Amino acid sequence: MPQLFINADQLESLLIKAKGASQDTAKQVIDKALELKGLSLEETAILIQNDSAEVIQRLFTAARQIKEKIYGQRLVLFAPLYIANYCSNNCLYCGFRKSNQQLQRVALSMDEIAAEVATLEREGHKRLLMLCGENHEGSSLDYFVQAIETAYSVKTEHGGDIRRINVEIAPLSVKEFQRLKSAKIGTYLLFQETYDPVTYKKMHPSGPKADYENRLFGMHRAMEAGIDDVGIGALFGLRDWRFEVLAMLAHSLELEKTFGVGPHTISVPRLQPTKNTPLANQPPAPVSDNDFKRLVAIIRLAVPYTGMILSTRESTSLRNEIFGLGISQISAGSRTNPGGYQSNRQEQPESEQFSLHDDRSLLEVVKDITKMGFYPSFCTACYRLGRTGHEFMEYAKPGEIQSYCLPNAILTFQEYLTYYGDDEAKNLGRQVIDQQLKGIKTDILRHKTAKKLDELAQGKTDLYF
Ligand code: SAM
Ligand code: SF4
Repeated sequence: MPQLFINADQLESLLIKAKGASQDTAKQVIDKALELKGLSLEETAILIQNDSAEVIQRLFTAARQIKEKIYGQRLVLFAPLYIANYCSNNCLYCGFRKSNQQLQRVALSMDEIAAEVATLEREGHKRLLMLCGENHEGSSLDYFVQAIETAYSVKTEHGGDIRRINVEIAPLSVKEFQRLKSAKIGTYLLFQETYDPVTYKKMHPSGPKADYENRLFGMHRAMEAGIDDVGIGALFGLRDWRFEVLAMLAHSLELEKTFGVGPHTISVPRLQPTKNTPLANQPPAPVSDNDFKRLVAIIRLAVPYTGMILSTRESTSLRNEIFGLGISQISAGSRTNPGGYQSNRQEQPESEQFSLHDDRSLLEVVKDITKMGFYPSFCTACYRLGRTGHEFMEYAKPGEIQSYCLPNAILTFQEYLTYYGDDEAKNLGRQVIDQQLKGIKTDILRHKTAKKLDELAQGKTDLYF
Protein backbone atom coordinates (compact mmCIF):
# COMPACT_ATOMS: atom_id res chain seq x y z
CA MET A 1 0.00 0.00 0.00
CA PRO A 2 1.42 3.49 -0.84
CA GLN A 3 2.11 5.99 1.91
CA LEU A 4 -0.90 7.23 3.84
CA PHE A 5 -1.73 10.69 2.50
CA ILE A 6 -4.19 11.74 5.19
CA ASN A 7 -2.58 12.85 8.42
CA ALA A 8 -5.38 13.96 10.73
CA ASP A 9 -3.00 15.75 13.15
CA GLN A 10 -1.40 17.74 10.35
CA LEU A 11 -4.77 18.76 8.94
CA GLU A 12 -5.92 19.84 12.41
CA SER A 13 -2.73 21.90 12.82
CA LEU A 14 -3.40 23.63 9.50
CA LEU A 15 -6.89 24.49 10.70
CA ILE A 16 -5.60 25.84 14.03
CA LYS A 17 -2.93 27.94 12.30
CA ALA A 18 -5.47 29.34 9.83
CA LYS A 19 -7.59 30.68 12.71
CA GLY A 20 -5.05 33.48 13.15
CA ALA A 21 -5.41 34.75 9.56
CA SER A 22 -6.89 38.24 9.15
CA GLN A 23 -9.95 39.16 7.09
CA ASP A 24 -7.64 40.83 4.59
CA THR A 25 -5.72 37.60 4.12
CA ALA A 26 -8.97 35.71 3.56
CA LYS A 27 -10.02 38.30 0.96
CA GLN A 28 -6.67 37.88 -0.81
CA VAL A 29 -7.25 34.13 -0.95
CA ILE A 30 -10.66 34.75 -2.53
CA ASP A 31 -9.11 37.12 -5.11
CA LYS A 32 -6.51 34.49 -5.95
CA ALA A 33 -9.22 31.84 -6.39
CA LEU A 34 -10.82 34.02 -9.07
CA GLU A 35 -7.75 33.31 -11.23
CA LEU A 36 -9.17 29.75 -11.47
CA LYS A 37 -5.93 28.03 -10.54
CA GLY A 38 -7.26 26.39 -7.40
CA LEU A 39 -6.07 26.78 -3.81
CA SER A 40 -3.52 25.10 -1.56
CA LEU A 41 -4.57 23.35 1.65
CA GLU A 42 -3.22 26.30 3.67
CA GLU A 43 -5.28 28.80 1.65
CA THR A 44 -8.38 26.64 1.83
CA ALA A 45 -7.98 26.36 5.62
CA ILE A 46 -8.01 30.18 5.84
CA LEU A 47 -11.40 30.30 4.07
CA ILE A 48 -12.75 27.47 6.20
CA GLN A 49 -11.83 29.26 9.41
CA ASN A 50 -13.02 32.75 8.57
CA ASP A 51 -16.54 33.24 9.95
CA SER A 52 -16.91 36.97 9.25
CA ALA A 53 -20.11 37.89 7.43
CA GLU A 54 -18.19 40.09 5.00
CA VAL A 55 -15.78 37.33 3.99
CA ILE A 56 -18.62 34.82 3.64
CA GLN A 57 -20.50 37.20 1.32
CA ARG A 58 -17.37 37.63 -0.80
CA LEU A 59 -16.88 33.89 -0.83
CA PHE A 60 -20.43 33.34 -2.15
CA THR A 61 -20.02 36.01 -4.81
CA ALA A 62 -16.73 34.49 -5.99
CA ALA A 63 -18.22 30.97 -6.05
CA ARG A 64 -21.10 32.23 -8.24
CA GLN A 65 -18.66 33.91 -10.61
CA ILE A 66 -16.54 30.77 -10.94
CA LYS A 67 -19.57 28.56 -11.50
CA GLU A 68 -20.79 30.93 -14.20
CA LYS A 69 -17.38 31.19 -15.88
CA ILE A 70 -16.60 27.47 -16.02
CA TYR A 71 -19.99 25.75 -16.10
CA GLY A 72 -22.33 28.50 -17.26
CA GLN A 73 -25.89 28.06 -15.94
CA ARG A 74 -25.92 24.38 -16.91
CA LEU A 75 -26.97 21.65 -14.51
CA VAL A 76 -26.40 18.06 -15.65
CA LEU A 77 -29.25 15.79 -14.55
CA PHE A 78 -29.18 12.14 -13.49
CA ALA A 79 -31.17 9.58 -11.49
CA PRO A 80 -29.80 7.14 -8.92
CA LEU A 81 -30.80 3.52 -9.45
CA TYR A 82 -30.64 1.31 -6.36
CA ILE A 83 -30.67 -2.32 -7.44
CA ALA A 84 -30.17 -4.16 -4.12
CA ASN A 85 -30.05 -3.33 -0.41
CA TYR A 86 -28.39 -6.43 1.07
CA CYS A 87 -25.28 -5.41 2.97
CA SER A 88 -22.52 -7.10 5.00
CA ASN A 89 -21.49 -3.86 6.67
CA ASN A 90 -22.80 -2.10 9.71
CA CYS A 91 -22.33 1.58 8.96
CA LEU A 92 -24.12 3.13 11.91
CA TYR A 93 -25.75 5.86 9.82
CA CYS A 94 -27.23 3.71 7.05
CA GLY A 95 -30.63 2.08 6.75
CA PHE A 96 -29.11 -0.75 4.67
CA ARG A 97 -26.75 -1.87 7.48
CA LYS A 98 -26.73 -5.58 8.18
CA SER A 99 -28.07 -5.28 11.72
CA ASN A 100 -31.18 -3.37 10.62
CA GLN A 101 -33.76 -6.13 11.05
CA GLN A 102 -36.63 -3.82 10.12
CA LEU A 103 -35.44 -3.26 6.55
CA GLN A 104 -37.12 -5.23 3.83
CA ARG A 105 -34.25 -6.80 1.82
CA VAL A 106 -34.49 -6.70 -1.96
CA ALA A 107 -32.19 -7.62 -4.88
CA LEU A 108 -33.93 -6.75 -8.14
CA SER A 109 -34.00 -9.37 -10.90
CA MET A 110 -32.73 -8.38 -14.36
CA ASP A 111 -36.34 -8.03 -15.51
CA GLU A 112 -37.10 -5.75 -12.59
CA ILE A 113 -33.99 -3.67 -13.34
CA ALA A 114 -35.07 -3.38 -16.99
CA ALA A 115 -38.52 -2.21 -15.85
CA GLU A 116 -36.97 0.44 -13.55
CA VAL A 117 -34.74 1.66 -16.38
CA ALA A 118 -37.66 1.82 -18.82
CA THR A 119 -39.59 3.94 -16.31
CA LEU A 120 -36.64 6.34 -16.00
CA GLU A 121 -36.16 6.50 -19.76
CA ARG A 122 -39.84 7.35 -20.20
CA GLU A 123 -39.31 10.32 -17.88
CA GLY A 124 -36.42 11.43 -20.11
CA HIS A 125 -33.36 10.36 -18.11
CA LYS A 126 -30.15 9.54 -20.01
CA ARG A 127 -27.70 9.21 -17.13
CA LEU A 128 -27.89 6.83 -14.21
CA LEU A 129 -25.95 6.37 -11.02
CA MET A 130 -26.22 2.67 -10.19
CA LEU A 131 -25.75 1.64 -6.55
CA CYS A 132 -26.19 -1.22 -4.10
CA GLY A 133 -25.09 -2.39 -0.65
CA GLU A 134 -21.90 -4.44 -0.27
CA ASN A 135 -22.81 -8.08 -0.34
CA HIS A 136 -21.17 -10.88 -2.21
CA GLU A 137 -24.17 -13.18 -2.18
CA GLY A 138 -27.11 -10.80 -2.67
CA SER A 139 -25.26 -8.47 -5.05
CA SER A 140 -21.91 -9.78 -6.33
CA LEU A 141 -19.75 -8.07 -8.96
CA ASP A 142 -21.11 -10.54 -11.55
CA TYR A 143 -24.64 -9.46 -10.67
CA PHE A 144 -23.69 -5.79 -10.79
CA VAL A 145 -22.00 -6.06 -14.20
CA GLN A 146 -25.02 -7.92 -15.54
CA ALA A 147 -27.23 -5.14 -14.20
CA ILE A 148 -25.14 -2.54 -16.08
CA GLU A 149 -25.43 -4.53 -19.31
CA THR A 150 -29.17 -4.89 -18.76
CA ALA A 151 -29.62 -1.16 -18.17
CA TYR A 152 -27.66 -0.21 -21.29
CA SER A 153 -29.72 -2.65 -23.36
CA VAL A 154 -33.13 -1.16 -22.48
CA LYS A 155 -34.53 0.88 -25.39
CA THR A 156 -37.85 2.69 -25.25
CA GLU A 157 -39.81 4.74 -27.78
CA HIS A 158 -38.44 8.07 -29.14
CA GLY A 159 -34.82 6.89 -28.95
CA GLY A 160 -35.15 6.44 -25.18
CA ASP A 161 -31.95 4.90 -23.85
CA ILE A 162 -29.39 5.23 -21.09
CA ARG A 163 -26.17 6.69 -22.43
CA ARG A 164 -23.98 6.81 -19.36
CA ILE A 165 -24.00 4.73 -16.19
CA ASN A 166 -21.94 6.00 -13.27
CA VAL A 167 -21.54 3.56 -10.43
CA GLU A 168 -21.22 3.74 -6.66
CA ILE A 169 -20.28 0.44 -5.08
CA ALA A 170 -17.81 -0.78 -2.46
CA PRO A 171 -14.14 -0.52 -3.48
CA LEU A 172 -12.69 -3.43 -5.48
CA SER A 173 -9.29 -4.91 -6.32
CA VAL A 174 -7.47 -3.58 -9.41
CA LYS A 175 -8.51 -6.69 -11.35
CA GLU A 176 -12.15 -6.29 -10.38
CA PHE A 177 -12.03 -2.60 -11.28
CA GLN A 178 -10.75 -3.58 -14.72
CA ARG A 179 -13.82 -5.75 -15.10
CA LEU A 180 -16.07 -2.88 -14.05
CA LYS A 181 -14.35 -0.59 -16.56
CA SER A 182 -14.94 -3.07 -19.36
CA ALA A 183 -18.67 -2.87 -18.56
CA LYS A 184 -18.39 0.71 -19.92
CA ILE A 185 -19.04 2.62 -16.76
CA GLY A 186 -18.81 6.42 -16.71
CA THR A 187 -17.56 7.74 -13.36
CA TYR A 188 -16.75 5.49 -10.40
CA LEU A 189 -17.93 7.15 -7.18
CA LEU A 190 -16.89 6.25 -3.66
CA PHE A 191 -17.32 8.34 -0.53
CA GLN A 192 -14.77 8.04 2.26
CA GLU A 193 -17.64 8.99 4.64
CA THR A 194 -15.13 10.41 7.15
CA TYR A 195 -11.41 10.96 6.60
CA ASP A 196 -10.71 10.80 10.33
CA PRO A 197 -9.54 7.24 11.12
CA VAL A 198 -10.80 7.43 14.73
CA THR A 199 -14.34 8.51 13.76
CA TYR A 200 -14.24 6.06 10.84
CA LYS A 201 -13.58 3.17 13.21
CA LYS A 202 -16.54 4.12 15.42
CA MET A 203 -18.91 4.48 12.47
CA HIS A 204 -17.92 1.21 10.75
CA PRO A 205 -17.79 -1.42 13.48
CA SER A 206 -17.84 -4.52 11.27
CA GLY A 207 -17.78 -5.90 7.76
CA PRO A 208 -15.27 -5.24 4.95
CA LYS A 209 -15.90 -1.51 5.14
CA ALA A 210 -14.36 -1.40 8.63
CA ASP A 211 -10.95 -1.25 6.86
CA TYR A 212 -10.26 2.52 6.57
CA GLU A 213 -7.16 2.19 4.41
CA ASN A 214 -8.74 -0.21 1.97
CA ARG A 215 -11.41 2.41 1.29
CA LEU A 216 -9.01 5.35 1.30
CA PHE A 217 -6.91 3.77 -1.45
CA GLY A 218 -9.96 2.58 -3.42
CA MET A 219 -9.59 5.43 -5.92
CA HIS A 220 -5.90 4.65 -6.43
CA ARG A 221 -6.84 1.10 -7.42
CA ALA A 222 -9.67 2.32 -9.68
CA MET A 223 -7.30 4.69 -11.46
CA GLU A 224 -4.60 2.02 -11.72
CA ALA A 225 -7.23 -0.13 -13.41
CA GLY A 226 -7.72 2.60 -16.01
CA ILE A 227 -10.93 4.18 -14.67
CA ASP A 228 -9.89 7.78 -15.15
CA ASP A 229 -13.10 9.52 -14.05
CA VAL A 230 -13.55 9.03 -10.31
CA GLY A 231 -15.79 10.87 -7.85
CA ILE A 232 -14.90 11.37 -4.19
CA GLY A 233 -17.05 12.58 -1.28
CA ALA A 234 -17.47 12.78 2.47
CA LEU A 235 -20.67 12.17 4.40
CA PHE A 236 -21.19 15.45 6.23
CA GLY A 237 -22.47 15.12 9.79
CA LEU A 238 -20.09 12.47 11.12
CA ARG A 239 -17.12 14.71 11.97
CA ASP A 240 -16.53 18.50 11.91
CA TRP A 241 -17.12 19.68 8.32
CA ARG A 242 -14.01 21.85 8.41
CA PHE A 243 -11.79 18.83 8.81
CA GLU A 244 -13.64 16.81 6.16
CA VAL A 245 -13.43 19.55 3.52
CA LEU A 246 -9.69 19.94 4.03
CA ALA A 247 -9.12 16.18 4.00
CA MET A 248 -11.21 15.74 0.86
CA LEU A 249 -9.05 18.34 -0.86
CA ALA A 250 -5.93 16.52 0.34
CA HIS A 251 -7.38 13.41 -1.34
CA SER A 252 -7.94 15.38 -4.53
CA LEU A 253 -4.36 16.72 -4.51
CA GLU A 254 -2.99 13.21 -3.86
CA LEU A 255 -4.80 11.80 -6.91
CA GLU A 256 -3.61 14.69 -9.04
CA LYS A 257 -0.02 14.16 -7.86
CA THR A 258 -0.08 10.40 -8.39
CA PHE A 259 -2.10 10.11 -11.59
CA GLY A 260 -1.74 13.55 -13.13
CA VAL A 261 -5.48 14.19 -12.84
CA GLY A 262 -7.69 14.82 -9.84
CA PRO A 263 -11.21 13.53 -9.26
CA HIS A 264 -13.83 14.24 -11.92
CA THR A 265 -16.43 15.06 -9.25
CA ILE A 266 -16.84 15.81 -5.56
CA SER A 267 -20.11 14.91 -3.85
CA VAL A 268 -21.41 16.59 -0.72
CA PRO A 269 -23.92 14.17 0.84
CA ARG A 270 -25.23 15.32 4.22
CA LEU A 271 -26.51 12.83 6.78
CA GLN A 272 -30.30 12.38 6.60
CA PRO A 273 -32.73 10.66 8.96
CA THR A 274 -33.44 7.01 8.32
CA LYS A 275 -35.89 4.65 9.95
CA ASN A 276 -34.55 2.59 12.86
CA THR A 277 -31.15 4.33 12.61
CA PRO A 278 -30.56 6.50 15.71
CA LEU A 279 -27.19 7.87 14.55
CA ALA A 280 -28.68 9.25 11.34
CA ASN A 281 -31.47 10.89 13.28
CA GLN A 282 -29.00 12.62 15.60
CA PRO A 283 -25.80 13.35 13.65
CA PRO A 284 -22.68 13.51 15.83
CA ALA A 285 -21.41 16.67 14.04
CA PRO A 286 -24.44 18.36 12.46
CA VAL A 287 -23.79 20.84 9.66
CA SER A 288 -26.08 23.89 9.56
CA ASP A 289 -27.57 25.02 6.25
CA ASN A 290 -25.36 28.08 6.28
CA ASP A 291 -22.18 26.07 6.85
CA PHE A 292 -23.31 23.67 4.15
CA LYS A 293 -23.55 26.56 1.69
CA ARG A 294 -20.11 27.74 2.79
CA LEU A 295 -18.50 24.38 2.28
CA VAL A 296 -19.92 24.09 -1.24
CA ALA A 297 -18.58 27.56 -2.09
CA ILE A 298 -15.16 26.80 -0.57
CA ILE A 299 -14.83 23.60 -2.62
CA ARG A 300 -15.81 25.58 -5.73
CA LEU A 301 -12.95 28.00 -5.12
CA ALA A 302 -10.39 25.35 -4.15
CA VAL A 303 -10.91 23.00 -7.14
CA PRO A 304 -12.73 25.05 -9.79
CA TYR A 305 -12.60 22.41 -12.54
CA THR A 306 -13.89 19.51 -10.45
CA GLY A 307 -17.60 18.93 -10.99
CA MET A 308 -19.75 19.06 -7.86
CA ILE A 309 -22.79 16.86 -7.26
CA LEU A 310 -25.82 17.74 -5.12
CA SER A 311 -28.41 15.03 -4.46
CA THR A 312 -32.07 15.09 -3.45
CA ARG A 313 -31.00 14.49 0.15
CA GLU A 314 -31.36 18.27 0.45
CA SER A 315 -34.64 20.20 0.42
CA THR A 316 -35.97 21.92 -2.69
CA SER A 317 -35.44 25.40 -1.27
CA LEU A 318 -31.88 24.76 -0.11
CA ARG A 319 -30.99 23.06 -3.39
CA ASN A 320 -32.28 26.09 -5.24
CA GLU A 321 -30.02 28.33 -3.16
CA ILE A 322 -26.96 26.13 -3.56
CA PHE A 323 -27.02 25.37 -7.32
CA GLY A 324 -25.49 28.75 -8.17
CA LEU A 325 -22.67 28.37 -5.64
CA GLY A 326 -20.88 25.86 -7.81
CA ILE A 327 -22.97 22.74 -8.39
CA SER A 328 -22.63 21.15 -11.83
CA GLN A 329 -24.63 17.90 -11.49
CA ILE A 330 -27.90 17.17 -9.70
CA SER A 331 -30.12 14.16 -9.23
CA ALA A 332 -33.84 14.54 -9.85
CA GLY A 333 -36.93 12.45 -9.26
CA SER A 334 -34.88 10.06 -7.08
CA ARG A 335 -35.80 6.97 -5.05
CA THR A 336 -33.40 5.19 -2.66
CA ASN A 337 -35.33 1.94 -2.38
CA PRO A 338 -34.71 -0.80 -4.95
CA GLY A 339 -37.77 -0.94 -7.22
CA GLY A 340 -38.81 2.54 -6.07
CA TYR A 341 -39.45 4.00 -9.52
CA GLN A 342 -42.35 1.71 -10.10
CA SER A 343 -43.94 1.84 -6.69
CA ASN A 344 -46.42 4.53 -5.81
CA ARG A 345 -44.71 7.83 -5.03
CA GLN A 346 -46.71 8.33 -1.85
CA GLU A 347 -45.82 4.90 -0.45
CA GLN A 348 -43.56 4.96 2.59
CA PRO A 349 -41.01 2.34 1.53
CA GLU A 350 -39.60 -0.05 4.11
CA SER A 351 -36.56 -0.66 1.93
CA GLU A 352 -35.07 2.81 1.43
CA GLN A 353 -31.54 3.86 2.43
CA PHE A 354 -32.38 7.29 3.80
CA SER A 355 -35.14 9.91 3.42
CA LEU A 356 -35.16 12.37 0.56
CA HIS A 357 -36.17 16.01 0.84
CA ASP A 358 -36.76 16.94 -2.76
CA ASP A 359 -39.44 14.71 -4.20
CA ARG A 360 -40.17 16.68 -7.38
CA SER A 361 -40.36 14.72 -10.60
CA LEU A 362 -37.71 15.23 -13.29
CA LEU A 363 -40.15 17.40 -15.27
CA GLU A 364 -40.88 19.58 -12.23
CA VAL A 365 -37.14 20.02 -11.57
CA VAL A 366 -36.48 20.88 -15.23
CA LYS A 367 -39.19 23.55 -15.17
CA ASP A 368 -38.16 24.99 -11.81
CA ILE A 369 -34.47 25.30 -12.65
CA THR A 370 -35.28 26.81 -16.04
CA LYS A 371 -37.45 29.44 -14.34
CA MET A 372 -34.49 30.24 -12.09
CA GLY A 373 -32.23 30.94 -15.06
CA PHE A 374 -30.41 27.60 -15.12
CA TYR A 375 -30.85 25.08 -17.87
CA PRO A 376 -30.66 21.30 -17.83
CA SER A 377 -28.19 19.19 -19.75
CA PHE A 378 -28.52 15.47 -20.46
CA CYS A 379 -25.19 15.42 -22.25
CA THR A 380 -23.06 12.27 -22.25
CA ALA A 381 -20.73 13.23 -25.11
CA CYS A 382 -17.34 13.56 -23.39
CA TYR A 383 -17.38 10.09 -21.99
CA ARG A 384 -18.60 8.55 -25.24
CA LEU A 385 -15.94 10.37 -27.28
CA GLY A 386 -13.18 9.46 -24.86
CA ARG A 387 -12.85 12.97 -23.43
CA THR A 388 -12.20 11.67 -19.90
CA GLY A 389 -9.43 11.95 -17.31
CA HIS A 390 -6.40 13.88 -18.70
CA GLU A 391 -8.15 14.49 -22.00
CA PHE A 392 -11.11 16.07 -20.22
CA MET A 393 -8.91 18.30 -18.07
CA GLU A 394 -6.91 19.41 -21.12
CA TYR A 395 -10.11 20.70 -22.63
CA ALA A 396 -11.64 21.90 -19.39
CA LYS A 397 -8.76 23.95 -18.03
CA PRO A 398 -8.47 26.50 -20.82
CA GLY A 399 -12.27 26.75 -20.93
CA GLU A 400 -12.42 24.75 -24.16
CA ILE A 401 -14.98 22.35 -22.77
CA GLN A 402 -17.47 25.22 -22.73
CA SER A 403 -17.51 25.19 -26.51
CA TYR A 404 -18.76 21.60 -26.46
CA CYS A 405 -20.87 21.74 -23.32
CA LEU A 406 -23.16 24.55 -24.34
CA PRO A 407 -24.18 23.15 -27.78
CA ASN A 408 -24.53 19.67 -26.28
CA ALA A 409 -26.69 20.99 -23.46
CA ILE A 410 -28.89 22.78 -26.00
CA LEU A 411 -29.24 19.65 -28.16
CA THR A 412 -30.02 17.29 -25.30
CA PHE A 413 -32.43 19.76 -23.70
CA GLN A 414 -34.27 20.12 -27.02
CA GLU A 415 -34.48 16.32 -27.38
CA TYR A 416 -35.85 16.11 -23.83
CA LEU A 417 -38.45 18.82 -24.47
CA THR A 418 -39.64 17.23 -27.71
CA TYR A 419 -40.43 13.85 -26.19
CA TYR A 420 -40.86 14.36 -22.45
CA GLY A 421 -41.76 18.03 -21.91
CA ASP A 422 -45.28 19.42 -21.36
CA ASP A 423 -46.46 22.72 -22.90
CA GLU A 424 -45.11 24.83 -20.06
CA ALA A 425 -41.67 23.20 -20.29
CA LYS A 426 -41.62 23.61 -24.06
CA ASN A 427 -42.38 27.31 -23.77
CA LEU A 428 -39.78 27.88 -21.10
CA GLY A 429 -37.26 25.77 -22.97
CA ARG A 430 -37.72 27.55 -26.28
CA GLN A 431 -36.79 30.89 -24.69
CA VAL A 432 -33.73 29.44 -22.96
CA ILE A 433 -32.53 27.66 -26.09
CA ASP A 434 -32.92 30.79 -28.25
CA GLN A 435 -30.98 32.79 -25.70
CA GLN A 436 -28.25 30.18 -25.18
CA LEU A 437 -27.73 29.73 -28.92
CA LYS A 438 -26.61 33.34 -29.01
CA GLY A 439 -24.00 32.50 -26.36
CA ILE A 440 -22.19 29.99 -28.60
CA LYS A 441 -18.83 31.59 -29.22
CA THR A 442 -18.15 31.02 -32.91
CA ASP A 443 -20.46 31.47 -35.92
CA ILE A 444 -19.46 28.06 -37.30
CA LEU A 445 -20.41 26.21 -34.15
CA ARG A 446 -23.66 28.19 -33.84
CA HIS A 447 -24.60 27.22 -37.40
CA LYS A 448 -23.69 23.60 -36.81
CA THR A 449 -25.79 23.54 -33.64
CA ALA A 450 -28.76 25.12 -35.44
CA LYS A 451 -28.39 22.47 -38.16
CA LYS A 452 -28.47 19.70 -35.60
CA LEU A 453 -31.55 21.30 -33.99
CA ASP A 454 -33.22 21.02 -37.41
CA GLU A 455 -32.25 17.35 -37.58
CA LEU A 456 -33.78 16.82 -34.12
CA ALA A 457 -36.97 18.47 -35.36
CA GLN A 458 -37.01 15.93 -38.20
CA GLY A 459 -37.00 13.05 -35.72
CA LYS A 460 -33.29 12.29 -35.27
CA THR A 461 -32.10 11.67 -31.70
CA ASP A 462 -28.83 11.54 -29.76
CA LEU A 463 -26.95 14.32 -31.55
CA TYR A 464 -23.79 15.80 -30.03
CA PHE A 465 -20.33 17.24 -30.65
N1 SAM B 1 -22.60 0.55 -0.23
C1 SAM B 1 -21.68 1.33 -0.99
C2 SAM B 1 -20.86 2.22 -0.12
O1 SAM B 1 -21.14 2.31 1.06
O2 SAM B 1 -19.93 2.81 -0.66
C3 SAM B 1 -22.46 2.09 -2.04
C4 SAM B 1 -22.96 3.40 -1.72
S1 SAM B 1 -24.15 3.65 -0.46
C5 SAM B 1 -25.53 2.85 -1.15
C6 SAM B 1 -24.27 5.36 -0.87
C7 SAM B 1 -23.81 6.38 0.12
O3 SAM B 1 -24.95 6.78 0.83
C8 SAM B 1 -22.81 6.04 1.19
O4 SAM B 1 -21.49 6.10 0.72
C9 SAM B 1 -23.10 7.10 2.25
O5 SAM B 1 -22.25 8.22 2.11
C10 SAM B 1 -24.52 7.55 1.92
N2 SAM B 1 -25.44 7.36 3.06
C11 SAM B 1 -25.61 6.27 3.81
N3 SAM B 1 -26.51 6.52 4.79
C12 SAM B 1 -26.91 7.80 4.65
C13 SAM B 1 -27.80 8.66 5.36
N4 SAM B 1 -28.46 8.24 6.42
N5 SAM B 1 -27.96 9.91 4.91
C14 SAM B 1 -27.31 10.36 3.83
N6 SAM B 1 -26.46 9.62 3.13
C15 SAM B 1 -26.24 8.35 3.53
FE1 SF4 C 1 -23.87 -0.90 3.31
FE2 SF4 C 1 -23.04 1.28 1.93
FE3 SF4 C 1 -25.06 1.42 3.72
FE4 SF4 C 1 -22.64 1.04 4.61
S1 SF4 C 1 -23.36 2.85 3.47
S2 SF4 C 1 -24.45 -0.10 5.30
S3 SF4 C 1 -21.76 -0.22 2.98
S4 SF4 C 1 -25.03 0.30 1.82
